Amino acid sequence: MQVTFIADRTLGRLAKWLRILGFDTLYDPEAADSRLHDLCRPGSVMLTRTHRVRLKFRSRNLIFIKSNDPEDQLREVIKALNLSQADVRPFSRCLICNTPIELIEKESVRNAVPDYVWETQNDFRQCPRCRKIYWHGSHTDRSMERIKSLFEGLDKHKVGGSHTEFS
Ligand SMILES: [Zn+2]
Repeated sequence: MQVTFIADRTLGRLAKWLRILGFDTLYDPEAADSRLHDLCRPGSVMLTRTHRVRLKFRSRNLIFIKSNDPEDQLREVIKALNLSQADVRPFSRCLICNTPIELIEKESVRNAVPDYVWETQNDFRQCPRCRKIYWHGSHTDRSMERIKSLFEGLDKHKVGGSHTEFS
């Protein structure tokens, strides 16, 4: 599913999670509400938690987020758009600047990552814009687990199952 999210400034952690899932997510904590207008494109989906922004953008595709918890906020987005695990591309996008990241040669990051990382990892990706380097770390595993449980939880909910939830 090709969608661009525009998150208002109250939704920084949700924006980060959407980027972890690989969604094109515009988020600028400094941006005024009026700037959000400029970012709108056909097909983009506005995310907000404030009634003021909701009123201003009532003619747009908008999801009004109710929860304060980033993981529940993510569930609200997933439910509203009926997203499935097939729609996500985890760890394909820079978390800092939202640019799709690219595979790079291991040799080229020799002096740019800690020694133990270079010695234990083989796959490195880099953001072509801000140059941040990404690799598979323990936080990646934890995030993958959370992503899995996020969608599993929803699927179970759909079929009315009563499996034990792990968190
Ligand atoms: Zn970047």
